[in-house]
Parts: sequence; structure tokens; C-alpha cells
Amino acid sequence: MLNIILFGKPGSGKGTQASLIKDKYSLIHISTGDVFRKNMSNNTDLGLLAKGYMEKGELVPDQVTVDMLKDEINNFMPCNGFIFDGFPRTTFQAKELDNLLLEKSLKIDLTIALDVDNNSLIDRLLERGKSSGRADDQSVEKINMRLQEYDNKTKPLIEYYNDQNKFYSINGIGSLEQITSRIVEVIEDYNNDWR
Ligand code: AMP
Repeated sequence: MLNIILFGKPGSGKGTQASLIKDKYSLIHISTGDVFRKNMSNNTDLGLLAKGYMEKGELVPDQVTVDMLKDEINNFMPCNGFIFDGFPRTTFQAKELDNLLLEKSLKIDLTIALDVDNNSLIDRLLERGKSSGRADDQSVEKINMRLQEYDNKTKPLIEYYNDQNKFYSINGIGSLEQITSRIVEVIEDYNNDWR
């Protein structure tokens, strides 16, 4: 089993790359943002709760997010592995994920960060906002809030996974194909080491 976290700031391309990598390695792609958005469009209790936070660019509370993630993982087991996109975003979430995987005798193999500068991210998100219909892509103010949430709550995870020798960062600027091949290189190096 191969379990990968695609890590990075909002707009760094995690979703796009996760769907390409999932096909190549037959993994299950779990995007917590997508699961929240699906709940919002179905008007579930979870969707209504998440909406207020998401529209402001704030993180949804940890316990709600972790409970949802656990359900997702359990629904897809057994499988070849997972690619997590937008999860974990806090140290609490990372620890809960480790515990959940450990209960199943599994672990995170790699955390791969897509490195993109803030100016490029803001441009990308505003551009995406023209067609995504996402409230949180619609203004520099909301985008800055998301970047702030990243710095305050998500960035500490770099150290968390670095301490476990699981953190890799790649340049997230380039063509779709270039970025995919940088990610594949990290995965293949890892697979060769463990073969
Ligand atoms: P994303 O689609 O990954 O950009 O996520 C959009 C929004 O969904 C975030 O700004 C948060 O409000 C919420 N969200 C997604 N994943 C998480 C998470 N792991 N923890 C808390 N909130 C999340």
C-alpha cells in the first residue's frame, strides 16, 4: 500500500496533480475540500456547518474534519493506498491520521509539497475564481485569510513530517507534465529504496 499526502498552500495545484497521480498508481484520492463542497451542495448538516468557515477562508474545526476523513477512509478500504489532498491541515489532524492508519497497520509513506510563491497563488486563485464559483476564490481578502490559516496552522506540519523523514518539496511552478514528473520522481525513488 502507498499512502501519500500532497501538501501545499491553497492554489498550489494539489487537486490537479492528485487526480493524475491517483490514476498512475491506482490510489484513492481524498480531497477534504471536495467532500465538504459535496456536502454543501447536498445541504447536509455537515455541509451547513462547513459552509460558514469555508466561505470566510477559515479551516473547519478539527474534530468534524477528522470524523469525516475517518468515514471516507473506512468506506474505501481495502484499496491500494490513498492520496490525501488538503488533509491534514493541522498537527491534531496529522496525529489523528497517524493513529487511524496505525490501527490498520498502515502508515503515511510520503508527504510531497508543491512549492509556489504567494503572488503566483493569488493570481491562480483569482483566475480560478472566474469559473469555479467558489466563494473563497473571489477576493484577495479571502485568499489572504486562507494563506494566513496555512501559515498559522498548516506550516508546522513541515516539521512534523520532516522529523519522520517523510517530507519532500518540489517546485510547483511549471507545466502540468513537468510537475507530475517531479512528483513521480519522488515516488519512484521511494519505491526503489523499499523494493
Ligand atoms: P480546499 O478545497 O482544499 O482548498 O479547501 C477549501 C476549504 O475547505 C478550506 O479553506 C477549509 O475551509 C475547508 N477544508 C478543507 N480541508 C480541510 C481540513 N483538512 N481541515 C479544515 N478545513 C478544511
